[in-house]
Amino acid sequence: MPLLVGGEDGAVVGENQKITSPQFQLFRFAAETSNLHHQLNLTMQLALGIDIGGTSTKLSLIDPAGNIISRSSFSTNERVDEHDFFQHLFASIDGLMADDSVQVVGIGAGAPSVNEQEGTIENAANLPFSPKVEFVKTVYERQRIPVSLVKDGNASTLGEWHFGAAKGMKNFMLLTLGTGLGCGIVANGQLLGGEFGHGGEAGHVCVQPSGRACGCGRFGCLETYVSATGLKRTVFDLMANLMDDSPLRSISYEAMTARRISEAAISGDFLAKKAFLQTGETLGRALADMAAWFEPEAIVLSGGLTMAGDLLFEPTIASLERHALAFHKGAKIKVLASTLGENDAALLGAAALVWNSKTH
Ligand SMILES: [Zn+2]
Repeated sequence: MPLLVGGEDGAVVGENQKITSPQFQLFRFAAETSNLHHQLNLTMQLALGIDIGGTSTKLSLIDPAGNIISRSSFSTNERVDEHDFFQHLFASIDGLMADDSVQVVGIGAGAPSVNEQEGTIENAANLPFSPKVEFVKTVYERQRIPVSLVKDGNASTLGEWHFGAAKGMKNFMLLTLGTGLGCGIVANGQLLGGEFGHGGEAGHVCVQPSGRACGCGRFGCLETYVSATGLKRTVFDLMANLMDDSPLRSISYEAMTARRISEAAISGDFLAKKAFLQTGETLGRALADMAAWFEPEAIVLSGGLTMAGDLLFEPTIASLERHALAFHKGAKIKVLASTLGENDAALLGAAALVWNSKTH
């Protein structure tokens, strides 16, 4: 029976509204004679957030308050091409939507190498895709509900903005310190896109002319120093240039991780501690420069490297203070840790795309 329970139609029917259509009569009948409130509680309007990464693709059903109701995931790197990927994606969506008590009102997704204007994923280095994949069109044609797609960095930024550390801010930056350095910028209350959709690539600002080679083809980019990989490179530089003993010397480059460096630093290892000091110094100086450009209220740090906590934050904040312009000194620019965690930030941001498009 097509009862108008939940949903937009059901939600707008109030005590004093004129109800004339047969369907609304049916609704009122149901409301007066049975258990409307019970039925309203049964149907939840939810957004489906999707976070597409090189290793795995995560999906979640999320309510308007940012609560994750259910989750699903599948490995991306085991897929042979986009057809295989979409098959797994749709199977996961079907699994999440099988519950009759939920109504999915829209789909938001974050992915690498996105063309936001076209709704496509193009030349993604870490995805097993053809050069151009029509993501929005393909998903919409099957699901027939609104679909949005943004860059993964922007998805995390939206997540922190709507539900996390940057809630309510008009000017902030999110830096995700993982294998590389991702960035999202909100300036004057708007997500910065740039003229061609590539704005906010803070990982590739040059902090050391003729410095370390970067995956982008240039030298001395911030992410070659400030990321899990950058920290590792710093440790090997220090081991080559200094004589101090360290348990890290017995670890190969492949086996070295930011976590092992953190553990060594916590147990007092000189080289590991020095590597974090240098990383924080470089990051803080870069943040002082970014503050000169955008003057954010806060810079939110997220990603695996931030698990090191004070080892990273203390030298970063001290360096920012030292290098800041006079009117930014005195801890004016806050450096905050993400409150959502890297994975959930992207999922929640993807869901925020859905809720935003409903309210505007
Ligand atoms: Zn670069």
